[in-house]
Amino acid sequence: MIQLYIPLNFLGVIYREIKQSLTDLERMFTLMDKEREVADVPGAKALHTGNRPPEVRFEHVDFAYDPARPILHDVSFTIPAGKTVAVVGPSGSGKSTLARLLFRFYDVQGGQVRIAGQDIRSVTQASVRAAVGIVPQDTVLFNDTVEYNIAYGQPGASREQVVAAARAARIHDFIEATPQGYATRVGERGLKLSGGEKQRVAIARTLLKNPPILIFDEATSALDSANERAIQNELRSAAQGKTSLVIAHRLSTVVEAHEILVMEAGRIIERGTHEALLAAGGRYAQMWNLQLNQPETLAETE
Ligand code: ATP
Repeated sequence: MIQLYIPLNFLGVIYREIKQSLTDLERMFTLMDKEREVADVPGAKALHTGNRPPEVRFEHVDFAYDPARPILHDVSFTIPAGKTVAVVGPSGSGKSTLARLLFRFYDVQGGQVRIAGQDIRSVTQASVRAAVGIVPQDTVLFNDTVEYNIAYGQPGASREQVVAAARAARIHDFIEATPQGYATRVGERGLKLSGGEKQRVAIARTLLKNPPILIFDEATSALDSANERAIQNELRSAAQGKTSLVIAHRLSTVVEAHEILVMEAGRIIERGTHEALLAAGGRYAQMWNLQLNQPETLAETE
């Protein structure tokens, strides 16, 4: 009994940790389909997004993981079709929670999350998840080939499609330089990739999936500036023509956003463009000055 209990308990811990950190949520759903937090309403239809990128709206959203501890309070914002909204704020302020709600990992307790005008609780989870691509901070790779890991974004993709996605994510040359190219095994028992390379695999996977909505959870760990610029460029090309939510830790990402939301303790305490927020001289301006002086991440400024 004890022997059985320990591994199960251990799995539970891993599950919670993965769930906590937004790490490869999409993969989690495949592996742990039974652990669904939300259920489709009877007769739920598929989300309709049409041919254009959809607008995303959070309207007066309240949310708690545990009813005794409210996390989000009256959060409202709109990501216009094809635009990028960036979220900044100290650790624990609720940034990843917004992403989890948009992916419908949980349902809101107050207010609504709408995609193209539809409350995401009224449509099927599968259709919401098909419309949203996540580039997580820490990509977990399968112990399989590079090709498999990229093609996971769109099962049944051809080699040409995989290569095109890898090129766009600027990982193709790296893959070609490995002894077995796309057949090289990666992951724990294969070729070890750096954080930046893994994130590029995740970007390639997402480009292949080609969802109209993108969530990008920027890595907090410091990358060297060449690597950071490369990832920024890849992000920019991945986000082109998509409605994007970026959990940002670097100023270079946020300056171009349509709107920046500054979160603190589950509330939006400031919002606006980079220039407007700097001019306002509030919390964001403070974070900006701090980051100029010590190039730490925005999340660490608390
Ligand atoms: P970070 O920058 O460190 O990733 P964050 O701003 O993304 O932080 P969230 O992950 O959204 O913060 O967490 C917001 C709050 O919700 C935190 O206080 C956290 O402890 C709590 N929280 C997150 N996930 C869960 C969970 N699964 N169960 C209970 N509480 C949770």
